[in-house]
Amino acid sequence: MYAIIEVGYLIATLSFLGGLKFMSSPKNAKTGNLIAALGMVLAVVLTFMAAVTATVPYTNLIIMLLAIAVGTVIGKRLSDKVEMTGMPQLVSLFNATGGGCAMLLGLVEANQMDPFTTILGNKILLIAGLITGAVALTGSIIAERKLAGKVKDRRSKTVILSARILLGLMVLLPVLYFFGIIPIGFTAFMYVLAAIAMVYGVLFVLPIGGADMPVVISLLNSITGIATAFAGFVYGNKAMIAGGIFVGAAGILLTILMCKAMNRSLLKVLAGTFKKSKNGAVEEAQEIKEISISETALSLSFAQKVAIVPGYGLAVAQAQHICGQLQQLLEKRHVGVDYIIHPVAGRMPGHMNVLLAEANVEYSHLKEMDEGNENMEQYDAVLVIGANDVVNPAAENNPDSPVYGMPIIRVYESKQVIVMKRSMGKGYAGVQNDLFALDNCSILFGDAKSSLQEIVNQLKLI
Ligand code: NAP
Repeated sequence: MYAIIEVGYLIATLSFLGGLKFMSSPKNAKTGNLIAALGMVLAVVLTFMAAVTATVPYTNLIIMLLAIAVGTVIGKRLSDKVEMTGMPQLVSLFNATGGGCAMLLGLVEANQMDPFTTILGNKILLIAGLITGAVALTGSIIAERKLAGKVKDRRSKTVILSARILLGLMVLLPVLYFFGIIPIGFTAFMYVLAAIAMVYGVLFVLPIGGADMPVVISLLNSITGIATAFAGFVYGNKAMIAGGIFVGAAGILLTILMCKAMNRSLLKVLAGTFKKSKNGAVEEAQEIKEISISETALSLSFAQKVAIVPGYGLAVAQAQHICGQLQQLLEKRHVGVDYIIHPVAGRMPGHMNVLLAEANVEYSHLKEMDEGNENMEQYDAVLVIGANDVVNPAAENNPDSPVYGMPIIRVYESKQVIVMKRSMGKGYAGVQNDLFALDNCSILFGDAKSSLQEIVNQLKLI
C-alpha cells in the first residue's frame, strides 16, 4: 500500500506540473485547471488512504470524511454562485482557508509534540508554517473585505509602525525561544506566535490600496503555498510539499509580473512600503467631448483597423458577448479588429482573457500591451470599453499621480479614441484620467452593454 500511495503522490505532483504548463496559455488554461484539480482529488484520496493504513482511529476518519464533504459542498456552492466580478474576492477567501489550514496544522502538531524529544528542525518548520499560514489567513480575509468595498484603506503611521514591530517580533521571538529566554511550553508559544501573525496579516494589508492590490493578492497566494509546503515537510507528505512549492513559486512569479505591470518594486512590496495616493490634490476641471452612438458606429465602419481595449467596466456590464458580436460584424465589413489587453485590466490577473474567452473571441485577436503599443498609430479608432486607469497618460507624465510609472496602453497615440463609460466616474486608483481631455478622445456615455448593442444595431443599418 505504501508504494501505491507514493506512486500516487508522484502522479498527483506530475498533474500539478502539467496543469501549470497548460495554464501558461489562455487556450489550454481550462484543461490545465482540470488536470491540476484531478491531481488534487487524487492527493486527497491518497492522504485519506494513508490515514486508513496508518490505523488512524475511526472517529478521526469520520471527521476527515465529514470535513471533505462539507468543504466540497461549500466550495461548489460558492463557485457556482460567484459572479465573474466577484472572482478575486473568492480567490482571496480560498487563499485564506489554505493559510488557516496551515496555521491550524501547526497548532495541532505543536500540541502533540513531545517537548523533550522533538527535533529542532521540525519545530522550526512548524513555526514557519504557522506564521506564514496565519498571515495568509487574516491578510487574505482583509484583502477580500477590501475588494468587496467593506473595509477602507488605513494608511496611518500607527498601522504601518505596528505592522513593522510585529514583523520584527515574529523573527525575534522564535530565536529567543530556542535560546531558552522565553520560559513557556511550545504549544503556548505557538498560540502567542499565531496571535501575533494574525494581527500582522491584518495590519500588513490594511494600508494597501488602489493600484497595489493585485500585487498583494498574488503575494498572499504565494505565502499560502509556502505555508502548505512547510506543513508538507512536517508530515512528510510529498504532494503537499510539491503543491505548496508550485503555488509559492507561481505566486511569486505572478507577483513579479504584476509588479512589473504596475511599476511596483517587489522589495517595497515586501517591506510594506506603498506609494500613497495624493487624495488631497486638487484636480483641474476637464473639457471633454461627447460622441453619440451613430457617430461611433460611423467611425468604426469607416475604419480599416480598430482596437478594442477592455477594462473592468466590460466585466461590470457583462458586455463581453455583445463585444464579440461587434468584432464579428466589423470583420464582415473588412475592418481588422484587435483586442489589446493590459496585464492588470479588471480586478484579477487574466480577468479580460477570461471574459473574452467566454465570448469565444479567438486568441489570435488578443494582443499584449507592448505589441499593441508598438502598433498603436496604425489604429484608426480605439474603443476603450470600461477601462480607465490602464489608459491614463498621467501614469507617464504626472509624477504626482498614484498611477505614475504604471505601464499603460497608449491609446492616445491612435488616430481616434472612443471611451465608453457611464459617467465621469474614476477608475480603481481613484484618479482623474488625463486621456479624456485630449483632442483625439471622445466619450460615449452609457452602460457598455446597451451602448454596444445600439452600435451593433446601427452598424447593421449602415
Ligand atoms: P478601472 O480603472 O477600474 O475603470 C473602470 C471603468 O469602468 C470606470 O471608469 C467606470 O466608469 C467604467 N465602468 C464601470 N461600469 C461600467 C459599465 N457598466 N459600463 C461602462 N463603463 C463602466 O478599470 P481598468 O482600466 O481595467 O483598471 C484596472 C484597475 O484595477 C487598475 O488600477 C488595477 O491596478 C486595479 N486592479 C487590478 C487587478 C488585476 O489583477 N487586474 C486587481 C485589483 C485592482 P463609470 O463609473 O463612469 O462608468
